[in-house]
Amino acid sequence: MNGVIRNVNILYGTNLDLIEEHEVWFQNGKITNITPNSKHKANVVIDGNKGYLIPGLIDLHVHMMWDGSEDPVSMTEQEGYEQMMIRAVANGHHYLEHGITTVRDIGSIDDISIHIAKAIRRGIVKGPEVITSGKTLTMTGGHDPFWASFVDGEEQALKGVREQIYKGATVIKVSASGGVYGRSEGESAGQSELSLQELTVICNEAHKFGLTVASHAIGRESIKNSILAGVDTIEHGHYMDDELMNLMEEHKVAWNPTLYVYRQVAQHQGVPEYARAKAREIVKIHDAAFKKYYKRNILIGAGSDAGSPGVSHHALKDEMYALNETIQDNMETLKTATVTAGEILKRKTGMISEGYVADFVILQENPLDNLKNLDSVREVIAKGESVYVKK
Ligand SMILES: [Zn+2]
Repeated sequence: MNGVIRNVNILYGTNLDLIEEHEVWFQNGKITNITPNSKHKANVVIDGNKGYLIPGLIDLHVHMMWDGSEDPVSMTEQEGYEQMMIRAVANGHHYLEHGITTVRDIGSIDDISIHIAKAIRRGIVKGPEVITSGKTLTMTGGHDPFWASFVDGEEQALKGVREQIYKGATVIKVSASGGVYGRSEGESAGQSELSLQELTVICNEAHKFGLTVASHAIGRESIKNSILAGVDTIEHGHYMDDELMNLMEEHKVAWNPTLYVYRQVAQHQGVPEYARAKAREIVKIHDAAFKKYYKRNILIGAGSDAGSPGVSHHALKDEMYALNETIQDNMETLKTATVTAGEILKRKTGMISEGYVADFVILQENPLDNLKNLDSVREVIAKGESVYVKK
């Protein structure tokens, strides 16, 4: 089964350069060719109707089983397992409708996201490609204990990572520091948690099996431990400074700053006060760090923390708007959720180019003119299959 998307303006290749009067060919879920317009026959013909064809969007940080309400932890406690599972499936549809064809779920109670990822891959339900850690590896009593696998010491760290891989995780998530939201009895956001030794064991083992490691790290010691241990991405990274940024460059660690979620936690009415107070304290530091370092020689990815307090499952766009307040360049910002995100995942996704996954969004308007045009979704194609058409 081959297919073609015709009659579109293509945001093509590593620079998302606009090319007109071309068509994109795909087969078995992969892009095979980008050619000048032709009348060649194909099994599947998608008429782009002069829209703009962009790569399917990638959200590098989500929690599919959370609902984005003011207090998702309480919500999931009330709901129970079965409802959480159904909610996560529904959120899979939601991503597709917004042009998000890949998500990285890095924190999920009872490994729900691993089950969802398998069901989607088997074609039982429709959803984005889900790259997921399932549970997170955390010290006993550490950050987000409700979806943690507790590991203390190098031996347990090794066992923890092997367990997640055995269950089907495709990325490993660690809590290198405390956090803002999740525990009313209090935890300090900057406190480092898993040690350098524990983190090192986890990274080595994950890499041995071809998985990357995402580290939740807010305080500077936790960021430093994560980089030296060999993690692939720093999530959040509020207290980034010159020394840490030099290490980030040297060790080629990517940064998913997740600016939007902390603003939401700080401002959103109804979010528990313990979390709002902590978020208010670090939002300014966070924004300042991003402004200071976004131009450095590291990969910067877009992660919304979807499902968190006040963060919807299409908040990837809100994260891009937040990033673009500083970046001030629509093309560069769009890359954080496409080309660069694919590079961070170390997968052939996020680009319209030969050999890449055939994930696309057809937009009515050009997102390079205005990022808000990402809302003008007309059709979404995942692995060469049309999965959403706007009525
Ligand atoms: Zn998160």
